Amino acid sequence: MNYSEIDIEKIPCINCGKCLPCCPKRIGIPGSFAAMNYLLETSDLDGAKQIEKELVTDKGYKRAGECIVCGRCEKHCPMGIKIRDRLLDISNVLK
Ligand code: SF4
Ligand code: SF4
Repeated sequence: MNYSEIDIEKIPCINCGKCLPCCPKRIGIPGSFAAMNYLLETSDLDGAKQIEKELVTDKGYKRAGECIVCGRCEKHCPMGIKIRDRLLDISNVLK
């Protein structure tokens, strides 16, 4: 895995779900972040894709690459996560 163009800090998501109701695209934000954090910890790409499947698409949410970068989610995140930037990383890595 090439980390050169992504933020390799773990994402401090607390899975509070506050970002979910305001997203017009129904992006599975916390599930995507859980998959990315797993990947950053383990470098296990197949495992990360499986987590993304279970927590995002299997639950009816959309994948990171479908984010339209409207920014609504970031106004609700208590952790101040740059959600759009991190979703872009994820869409590039978990193809
Ligand atoms: S920036 Fe992306 S994830 Fe956030 S609310 Fe908009 S579409 Fe959803
Ligand atoms: S609002 Fe922030 S901390 Fe809460 S689930 Fe969404 S990204 Fe994670």
